Amino acid sequence: MSCKKMRSIPERRAERWNDWRWQMRHRIRTLAQLCRRFPALADTTGMEATAQRYPMAITPYYASLIRTPDASDPVFQMAAPGLDELADPLWLAPDPLEEDADMPVPGLIHRYEDRALIMATTTCAMYCRHCTRKRVAGRRESVLSVAALKRIAAWLREHPEIRDVIVSGGDPLTLPTAMLQRILDAVRRVPSVDILRVGTRVPVVLPMRVTDELCAMLRQYHPLYINTHFNHPAEITPDSAAACERLADAGVALGNQTVLLRGVNDDAPLLADLFRRLLRQRVRPYYLFQCDPVRGIEHFRTPIARGIEIMECLRGRLSSLAIPNYVVDTPHGGGKIPLTPHAIVSTSSTHTVLRNFEGMIVAYPEPVRRDGGKSLFE
Ligand SMILES: *Cc1c(COP(=O)(O)O)cnc(C)c1O
Ligand code: SF4
Repeated sequence: MSCKKMRSIPERRAERWNDWRWQMRHRIRTLAQLCRRFPALADTTGMEATAQRYPMAITPYYASLIRTPDASDPVFQMAAPGLDELADPLWLAPDPLEEDADMPVPGLIHRYEDRALIMATTTCAMYCRHCTRKRVAGRRESVLSVAALKRIAAWLREHPEIRDVIVSGGDPLTLPTAMLQRILDAVRRVPSVDILRVGTRVPVVLPMRVTDELCAMLRQYHPLYINTHFNHPAEITPDSAAACERLADAGVALGNQTVLLRGVNDDAPLLADLFRRLLRQRVRPYYLFQCDPVRGIEHFRTPIARGIEIMECLRGRLSSLAIPNYVVDTPHGGGKIPLTPHAIVSTSSTHTVLRNFEGMIVAYPEPVRRDGGKSLFE
């Protein structure tokens, strides 16, 4: 099947192109709309069925980054539904990280001692085909209710060990500013919470959402950290750079979480380029994620050895500011585990033998006096 017979509408930047609400309203949601936007789309096999199962949404802005509507295009691969998503190998689960089992109150995931994550909405500007929360994102576009937010705030007050609260989703920056503010406000009023974090892909897929109004609101809630999600140099544009610039100017510390995706970015020079460009737009690479074994994203997974190899290639060749931690979020709620190339060759009572990024073997002399088994957290 192909789209060739459809009438072509030339791409035209609408008058309201820079209005984020216009972008949200004009997202590509159906195969017919995708065909109208990309008349050259040659193979639509299985797209309809896939989009029924895992919703599609592509902002006109993000669609404008697609050069050719086929699998050779990284942006297209991350945005357009494909037949591969319907493959259901037995070892994949909809929720392998068992997040749903770690919810003490609805909408809040508690896995680590001092941190908790709020799922503020199930809506995103663009539904990533590789999404780890494919089981929820976009299934039914909904937002956290006022009652649920109250219960979350009450739970946080009863758990003063939580110092860092991550507002995630879905994508919280798709919320109206006032609604996002209500959430940040409720969390900020809990005295034991030190740090607020927001996880968002908006600077990548809907940069015009980062308005002066939004930044003015956010700057009232410092210390506020935002982690965004750039995966490919093609996503770095003057618009995305300007959005990050506005956030940084509002005092927000910016990090980035890249997902390692087969055929999209599993390449050391490409990632080196991405990470350097991120630093240039004031975003510090934070995590490189091993792709989770989630149902519907098998075709994006690479072996862990590939990620290790890439990290080995980056280390020493790139400013350490540009190098994220490579982590795997383990099945059964085991949490994130950092993966590093094997640096320790051997240990003895006098020396630890190490291997550097060029393969050189060096011995580090250990101190003569040791402190035995004293716990670091006494
Ligand atoms: C990733 C994650 C966090 C934050 O972990 P950091 O390593 O501090 O970035 C917190 N809660 C949940 C459930 C997470 O998945
Ligand atoms: S923006 Fe995040 S939550 Fe939304 S679809 Fe992409 S990866 Fe999933």
